[in-house]
Amino acid sequence: MADANSSHIAKAAGNKTSKTSPTKYVFVTGGVLSGVGKGVTAASLGALFKARGFSVTIQKCDQYLNVDAGTLNPAEHGECFVTYDGAETDLDLGHYERFLDQDLSRDSSLMTGRVYKKVIDKERAGGFLGKTVQVVPHVTNIIIEEIIECGKNSDIHIVEVGGTVGDIEGLHFIEAIRELGLRVGRGNFVHMHVVYIPFLGTSKEFKTKPAQHAALELRRLGLIPDMIAARSEKEVPIKTIEKLSLFCGVEPRGIVLLPNADTVYRVPLTLEQSGIASYALERLQLKDSAPDLSAWKSLVRKATTTPEKNVKIGIVAKYLDNEDTYFSVIEALKSAARSNAVALNYEWVNSELVDSKNAEVMLSIYDGILVPGGFGKRGIEGKIAAAQYALESGKPYLGLCLGLQVAVIGATRGAGLSEANSTEFDPKSPDPVVYIMELQKGKEGTGGSMRLGSYECILKKGSLASKIYKSGVVTERHRHRYEVNQLYIQKIEQGGLVISGTSPDGMLVEMVEGRDHPYFVATQAHPEFLSRPMRPHPLFAGFIKATIDKLHKSDIII
Ligand code: GLN
Repeated sequence: MADANSSHIAKAAGNKTSKTSPTKYVFVTGGVLSGVGKGVTAASLGALFKARGFSVTIQKCDQYLNVDAGTLNPAEHGECFVTYDGAETDLDLGHYERFLDQDLSRDSSLMTGRVYKKVIDKERAGGFLGKTVQVVPHVTNIIIEEIIECGKNSDIHIVEVGGTVGDIEGLHFIEAIRELGLRVGRGNFVHMHVVYIPFLGTSKEFKTKPAQHAALELRRLGLIPDMIAARSEKEVPIKTIEKLSLFCGVEPRGIVLLPNADTVYRVPLTLEQSGIASYALERLQLKDSAPDLSAWKSLVRKATTTPEKNVKIGIVAKYLDNEDTYFSVIEALKSAARSNAVALNYEWVNSELVDSKNAEVMLSIYDGILVPGGFGKRGIEGKIAAAQYALESGKPYLGLCLGLQVAVIGATRGAGLSEANSTEFDPKSPDPVVYIMELQKGKEGTGGSMRLGSYECILKKGSLASKIYKSGVVTERHRHRYEVNQLYIQKIEQGGLVISGTSPDGMLVEMVEGRDHPYFVATQAHPEFLSRPMRPHPLFAGFIKATIDKLHKSDIII
């Protein structure tokens, strides 16, 4: 893919390096409650700066004491997004990459655990020369250093502080941006506070009081925002701006009303219409110009018109309460559906309810089947059955990471190895077709044993994968521990699969596909992380196309 980085140490794309003027900062904080779209607002503002030709970086400060997001429970916290350089991060980085159409590095995710680890490591190494180590200035200084480092090559660096202002866990970040603002001085930073305006059904009115209190809480911590983004469920009356201005001490020009949008991709256009980006640039003493938003407009048009045709995709995964776990997968599917001009319907199929006997009944209603990444044994037999059903019936299939492993298990079982399994699910399997390679043994319980970040894959000449990618070499992001056991290649092929991609040294299986199958493609990587709203990922686009074309096995001549 043109978009992927060619090496593990590739630089974040799209950043100018010949920068002479100082980096300008945009701080984004949240009040009232979290989860109202602060990340999307921050990223949209970034997109507007980018559309004016500025180089932009963006960073998320997270309150958790975890060192990175790899150990957070996806059911609670949503997807773990992986950067090209192998950082396991918060799903907000996914929003950022999609909105900015730009790869971000591990520096863009700053968790409290990483900050404290740095401080404590430095203290243990005698780095503080006998001083008392304190939150101010030692913790805040490390945060400031990390922010400066992350933004140093860009014209504008956006820093989003996770959570809500006033949370005990977030105070060090708030204090750090206050100090950084003082250091760089007026004209070099702006601060946007994202608040929420609730609607009271009984009295039928919007209430600004929580927003006023949120601004008050900020003032208590020494900060008066320059801008307020007011989120609401529905459109609030325009006079709300005056009220917010008066009580929060922000010029009306610095206030933008953001009611729920029909598509998140409208947010940059709504922000632009309000004039808030121009206002921010004025405060930052940067030259404003007319942004080219034609691509955004066309994206919004596509995202808000319902095409006639629709496709129904079954996503076979173990039961999870939190849809955000597969946020990038859904975004990639939506993007692929838009590019194919079809409406996307997707349903979650609880893999604990699927088995080889009922797979056809449960899955034949879908135009295509997707098995996403996953960890652990629960529901694994259902995923294997789903892959096997798709392979044998000619149903379009897209396997992502674990989705490749279950395809390999299914195919080898089909070839007669009835107890074939991954050692992740059956450590005693007589046929460990997916296993931990010798090199990785003993590190199973640690984050360190995962293959993380971008790796190259060489595609087999003439394979479906090479046709879809229109390339012989691709780079995709990884996050997994287990690999296909190459001792079983013959059985895998006998089961109906072709190894269509391997690591450059041939040691690792990267992709498999169904022989004589309309579209059975599985990858050991996570292509969803590279899909962008305006540039759908070829594997997803090809998958959706196959579900529309409804070809049969016999129609395919590869
Ligand atoms: N559990 C599998 C592994 O560790 C797959 C991981 C994934 O799907 N991300 O290899």
